[in-house]
Amino acid sequence: MCKNTIQFQKGLGIMQFLANYGSEEQCENALSSWRWPDGFQCPKCGSRSFCKLHRKAEFQCNCCRCQTSLTSNTIFDSTKLPLATWFLGIYLVTQNKAGISCLTLHRQLGISYNAALRMKHKLMQVMMERDNSWQLSGFVQIDDAYWGGERHGGRRGRGSENKAPFVAAVQTDADNHPIYMKFNAVDNFRRKTIQEWAEHALKKGVRAVSDGLSCPVFRGIEDAGCQHTAIITGGGHASMENELFTWVNTMLGNVKTAITGTYHKLDPKHLGRYLSEFNYRFNRRFDMPSMISRLGRAAVNTAPMPDRLLKLPDVQWKPG
Ligand SMILES: [Zn+2]
Repeated sequence: MCKNTIQFQKGLGIMQFLANYGSEEQCENALSSWRWPDGFQCPKCGSRSFCKLHRKAEFQCNCCRCQTSLTSNTIFDSTKLPLATWFLGIYLVTQNKAGISCLTLHRQLGISYNAALRMKHKLMQVMMERDNSWQLSGFVQIDDAYWGGERHGGRRGRGSENKAPFVAAVQTDADNHPIYMKFNAVDNFRRKTIQEWAEHALKKGVRAVSDGLSCPVFRGIEDAGCQHTAIITGGGHASMENELFTWVNTMLGNVKTAITGTYHKLDPKHLGRYLSEFNYRFNRRFDMPSMISRLGRAAVNTAPMPDRLLKLPDVQWKPG
């Protein structure tokens, strides 16, 4: 039987993962090499001279005496969990295409549900910040969508309760194959909002194609310096069959199915984080084993997220 080479991307086997990151010491060494690739550097005075304290993974600067732990000032800040548990969490989150629920994380990692919830949201936050730091270019299929509501047919539902709006964008190559995706939660589909989204998400000069129905909404894309073509399909299933929308529609369907299957329902104020998780994995799908080190490196470069901030609605990107 012929295998789809993309679907059969090689992941990182659990035995190989355990050989690389199975012990606390291996995880500490990995984290240290990601955080300080050129060796420890004092975050306060920049000195490289230090001594290790009795407590594990704590360093004291020989110059200014400032004490730093391996995890301080990173997304792992103040964690009570062993790093090996975090790494296994990173493994489970990155290697499962359809995502993994907090309940499953709690069971598989043997940690409390609340600890699993915090871990999951912190890792999704890392993915969101990382994914927000680059832009789509070239040809991009764009659609407006809702989580928690029907997209096609019936009332469009803008402004309707319990529906969280998001923009679905897929960069395709000359053969109309998907390269990267960017699904981002937005506050609404007003022209100004879409302009702000496009300025963050798209490189200038992008050639965007969207469904004709979305035309008034996506004038914001032109305002952001991109070319925009609206294809009038008449909406409904006609737009699904138009090959210019093949990928954005297919991927919208896949993401919605995966979210429903894995999470059943989710808090709309964190839709951005959940979508970023799908962006993150899809955009790195050709090299699944490297996702552990890439997410780990991104995690040590992400600011701490205390509970107070973790519970606030997602800030998809900072203004300005
Ligand atoms: Zn110092």
